[in-house]
Amino acid sequence: MSEGCSLCDPTKIMLFACSGGGANVGQISNQVALELTKEGKGKMYCLAGLGGHVQGLIDNTLKADKVIVIDGCSVACAKKLVEHVGVKIDGYIDITQAGIEKTPGKYEISDEDITKIKSLVEEML
Ligand code: SF4
Repeated sequence: MSEGCSLCDPTKIMLFACSGGGANVGQISNQVALELTKEGKGKMYCLAGLGGHVQGLIDNTLKADKVIVIDGCSVACAKKLVEHVGVKIDGYIDITQAGIEKTPGKYEISDEDITKIKSLVEEML
């Protein structure tokens, strides 16, 4: 079985979003990482692959110049997962600590919230 994929080549700035499915803040993390990737400011990478101990993806992550982690809330799932595979985190944000309330079971996200978190992440790039 392959240990990587052509869409997941190494890159200088990697963005890991928790992409949590239980609340707005997880979806904000995903949208921010996606938009920054589309804008060419970094590259959203495969958090699930690290969790699955896919060695190729871990190796690629270890080659990154910067690893940025975006968690929806203070449970810090993405941070814990990235650290679990021995990757050093260069920039970190917990969206609730940035002043956005977590609303479990509600997924509406505003452009204002996206812009706010994006600008905070951009300061780390
Ligand atoms: S950090 Fe919070 S929002 Fe993200 S996956 Fe974990 S519990 Fe869900």
